Amino acid sequence: MGKRHFGWILALGTSVGGLIAAALPAHAGDRETAQATLDTRAAVEQPKIIAWRRDIHEHPELGNQETRTAALVAKHLKSLGLEVRTGVAKTGVVAVLKGGKPGPVVALRADMDALPVAEQVDVPFASKVKTQYNGQEVGVMHACGHDTHVAMLMGVAEVLAGMKDQLPGTVKFIFQPAEEGLPKGEVGGAEQMLKEGAFDNPKPDAVFGVHVISTLHAGDVGYRPGPFMAAADEFVITVHGKQSHGALPWTGVDPIVTASQIVLGMQTIESRQMEVIKEPSILSVGSIHGGNRNNIIPDTVTLNGTIRTFDEGMRADIDKRLRRTVAGIAESAGATADVDIIKGYPVTINNPELTAKIVPTLQRVAGKEHVKLIDKVTPSEDFSFYEQQVPGVYLFVGITPPETDLSKAASNHSPKFFVDESGLIVGARTLAHLTVDYLYGL
Ligand SMILES: [Zn+2]
Ligand SMILES: [Zn+2]
Repeated sequence: MGKRHFGWILALGTSVGGLIAAALPAHAGDRETAQATLDTRAAVEQPKIIAWRRDIHEHPELGNQETRTAALVAKHLKSLGLEVRTGVAKTGVVAVLKGGKPGPVVALRADMDALPVAEQVDVPFASKVKTQYNGQEVGVMHACGHDTHVAMLMGVAEVLAGMKDQLPGTVKFIFQPAEEGLPKGEVGGAEQMLKEGAFDNPKPDAVFGVHVISTLHAGDVGYRPGPFMAAADEFVITVHGKQSHGALPWTGVDPIVTASQIVLGMQTIESRQMEVIKEPSILSVGSIHGGNRNNIIPDTVTLNGTIRTFDEGMRADIDKRLRRTVAGIAESAGATADVDIIKGYPVTINNPELTAKIVPTLQRVAGKEHVKLIDKVTPSEDFSFYEQQVPGVYLFVGITPPETDLSKAASNHSPKFFVDESGLIVGARTLAHLTVDYLYGL
């Protein structure tokens, strides 16, 4: 344990925390003392969180390759005296902090991976990293802000480790690789972390996580009970016709016209067949490939697209209706079609009871006017796998500068994605306060 290294923080945290404790009314309980200590310590953490974030931002790593980031995290957690497990799902790090008193177990999760995006933000710590991805040279950038997630959770670990005697329970820190998905054939991310025991010994009673987001201003926190982020499934449809001369279509079976009918037919699944007042759903075709000349009708056409849903029953239902629609239209044309549906992340569902219970904590941390009940969003997130295991809440933390019009802010995944770092202390305090409040009983 790096006693020497952290001595000054412990000394400062203890002395200021002691003053605050002394200033509190005599009836103030352990919980209030812990909350006050936590804020004092979090303020001390702020410059360190920003420094870690900039360092990680300048050295982004793609999914399953986060070795530098994981080493930084593991070293830090070990220096805090935590039990640290590395190499979980390749580069994942899981650490356990045992509080001074018995109590429940809270898991906190940060994802660590960057994206194949060439940064266009003008900051001194902008990424210049390049790597190979799918056979091409690409830039690498923390365009989804996972650098901030790692830095915030490192800060939270330090805050909580320094006051562990005041914690009635256990905190599990989960630093996860590869949230953004992986090239075909590779496994990783939250699902693999769970397979490799991230939630074993001890099993958490609840899980919390935050994602920075361009659609909220720095200082704001967004929450939504129930279905929050979509399930994302990919489909590949191959329509098999019979090649013929473009001037003699009756001598073949035209897969281009059939594929066109399939595109339109599939749109009626969402608009005519699904109960739209229950949950929304989206089906988009992103690519159509077939043929190579004006006067040859090709043999096959391939359609590739995505399905977004907010209910697991509707997700399974759309799967069946998609297959039925494709098969029926293909048959009507005398063609055949193969349908391959590649399951992505499940629906991210925030436990409604737990979400309701944490709202007062969010309001205390961010200020009532900064806590927003937000709409569900159609991107997906593998935090959903953790929430399938235990009650959890996933939150959005704003990072767009308050003076910027939200509609003009570059979105997550954009090469211009910009983080107002003042939002990070709000995110870190949110996670730390949620932990303390949960341990003391919501
Ligand atoms: Zn992302
Ligand atoms: Zn992300």
